[in-house]
This record gives sequence, structure tokens and C-alpha cells, in this order.
Amino acid sequence: MSQMLKAAAFLDRDGVINEEVHYLHEPAKTVLIPGVAEALNKIHEHGYLAVIVTNQSGIARGMYGEPEMHSVHAKIKELLAADGADFDAVYFCPHPPTAECSCRKPKPGMLLQAAKDLGIDPARSFMVGDRAGDMEAGQQAGCKATYLVRTGYGQQTLEKGTPQGAVVVDDLLAAVNDFFKD
Ligand SMILES: [Mg+2]
Ligand SMILES: [Zn+2]
Repeated sequence: MSQMLKAAAFLDRDGVINEEVHYLHEPAKTVLIPGVAEALNKIHEHGYLAVIVTNQSGIARGMYGEPEMHSVHAKIKELLAADGADFDAVYFCPHPPTAECSCRKPKPGMLLQAAKDLGIDPARSFMVGDRAGDMEAGQQAGCKATYLVRTGYGQQTLEKGTPQGAVVVDDLLAAVNDFFKD
């Protein structure tokens, strides 16, 4: 049975954790969005896992390799550590949009794989992103809530209309505060 399952915050990376940089792959250009460390600490205080789920088609496009991507993740960890914060796992899709893989958001593959690997109940979990595809992935995975942030591409996303089922918040910290407000 499922009484031992955990819950998670599924987090898009670019525009949610770090400032949006087109096809970010350089640690030196990796800048945290304000409040992210506090948000991650709150996620952990509530016993939730923080799982990054990120589309990285720049790998398929030959713009950078997996080692460069991992160096960005190491830089994010280093920046977070300065504020005593961390994330638990990263799932990435290296495929191009044309591959029709099961992992690239808006498909829920990365969330479902993390749920399987880490023992997460999506129905108690939430997704935070800056694009409509993030909302769709969270909903297809069966998340309890999906938050659209105004950071990153969030404002541009909203100009095309609020994605269905999305709760609009300023940033990751606001999403976390809303989810745990009760
Ligand atoms: Mg994003
Ligand atoms: Zn993929």
C-alpha cells in the first residue's frame, strides 16, 4: 500500500530556480532567483522532496553536452549551500522537441519516473513552472496543484492566457507559501 509514499515539489529549473538565460550551460551565468533558498528550505521543513524536472533540448541541438549541464547543477548546489539549502534530485530530458520521447514536458514522464524512483505520491505533490508545458506535465502526472510563476518566461506565458488549472504566483517562494498555507 501507499502509506510510506513521500510527496514532492516538482520544480522546473530555468526561470524558476535560476534566472532565465537562453540555453543556459555556463556556471558563470547561473544566478539564483531571489527567495529560492528559503523556498527549498520550507519544502524540506514540510517533509517534501524538491525534485527538479528540466527540458534540456540544447543537448540534442548540440549546443552543449551533459557535462556542461551537470556543471550548472553543481553551481546551483553551490549557490544554494551558501544559504543552507539544497534540492534532492534532477531529472532532465536531453531530447529534441521532434523526438516525441515520453520525458519532454508537457509530457509527465520525468515526474512519473521520479515518483517511481523516489516513492512519491503525485496526488500530494505540486509542480512549479514558468510555461504552459510545465502546468500540463504537472496535471498529467496527477499533481494536487500546479503553480505558474511570473519569473522567467512566466509573464510571457500569461500574455497568451493563463494556462488551464494554473495558480498564478509571483515566484517559487510564493508558490511554496501558498501550497503550505493551511
Ligand atoms: Mg522554465
Ligand atoms: Zn525526452
